[in-house]
Amino acid sequence: MRVVYSPDHLAHDVVTETVMGAAIPANEVAERAERIRAALEADGGFPIEPPTEHGTDPILAVHDPGLLRFVEEAWREARTQAIARPNLTADTFPTFRMFEGMSPEAVAAIAETRSAGGRAGWWGLDTANPLLAGTYAAARAAVDVALTTADLVLGGERAAYGLCRPPGHHAARSMIGGYCFFNNAAIAAEAVVRATGQRVAILDVDFHHGNGTQQIFWRRGDVLYVSLHGDPERQFPYFLGRVNETGEGEGSGANLNIPLPAGTGDEAYLAALDRGLAAIAETPGDIVVVSLGFDTYGHDPIGDFALTTAVYHECGQRVAALGRRLVILQEGGYYRPALGANARAWLRGADGRPYEPRPAAGFGPNGSDR
Ligand SMILES: [Zn+2]
Repeated sequence: MRVVYSPDHLAHDVVTETVMGAAIPANEVAERAERIRAALEADGGFPIEPPTEHGTDPILAVHDPGLLRFVEEAWREARTQAIARPNLTADTFPTFRMFEGMSPEAVAAIAETRSAGGRAGWWGLDTANPLLAGTYAAARAAVDVALTTADLVLGGERAAYGLCRPPGHHAARSMIGGYCFFNNAAIAAEAVVRATGQRVAILDVDFHHGNGTQQIFWRRGDVLYVSLHGDPERQFPYFLGRVNETGEGEGSGANLNIPLPAGTGDEAYLAALDRGLAAIAETPGDIVVVSLGFDTYGHDPIGDFALTTAVYHECGQRVAALGRRLVILQEGGYYRPALGANARAWLRGADGRPYEPRPAAGFGPNGSDR
């Protein structure tokens, strides 16, 4: 299986994130992608190639131009305004309650502030999404990785994998958040729809609900969104991801949320995956975009499922058994010691190759990287 990777992600060199008021060591770090790259290189069956540049038009096909402008300008502007922090993190957000009672016209007249901190809140969801000097370059490269992966599949590959970082599925049309800046999977799906004129399904198996992807395609009947995730009653992003969110207008019925309880293990997860795959099988179309996350792993520091490395191989096999072509894009996964082994297991399954968690150079006895 061909793999697309860009070292430009290294420029988004996140060190800390802010959670419940405390600066903690960041979860979404460069080491994640490097672990996966090393494991796929060691496997020998995943040739790695660089992305090609696609420009900003595919981004603007799903995102507000103001959001693109903000991500490009934010760091420079923060420096110009003498915000001397290691990163730019929002702390004040225009929550809808702030405008309660105002008419839609009055709300529409509210303008984006000039303050870099205020703008970070205007375009942001949460406090765990630091912007740094290299964030824009990395986020642009992640989009190019996703679009190049889609190109490979549109060009005839049965499946291809894009090692996107930063991830994308929490980014909505006009909002960054949850470690995400541009919605790589949504941008790739939109590009596939435009290239083929066919319906596309997005299967999101990251631990978290992909609120951004759901929002972008909420009223779209030509993109089916299916997500398995930790129930928002207890997990980020809290306010979206429930069963009763099924889409509206032309998108009515084209959104399937499958929230799952804490402690979900291999068997229960596979049953839920089969439900999601059955919904995709009922929808016409030839290409599936997979938002692939490994924060469903048993030791993940921010997820609370209990999946094993072995089950990822089975998951990859079952997704491939749909018989559709796969644009597989990396989202989350934060237990770094097993990230390479987990990605390799999933992708070998999707590639029709046996699991073989064999100890190899750089791999520990349990299939972990270390
Ligand atoms: Zn996640």
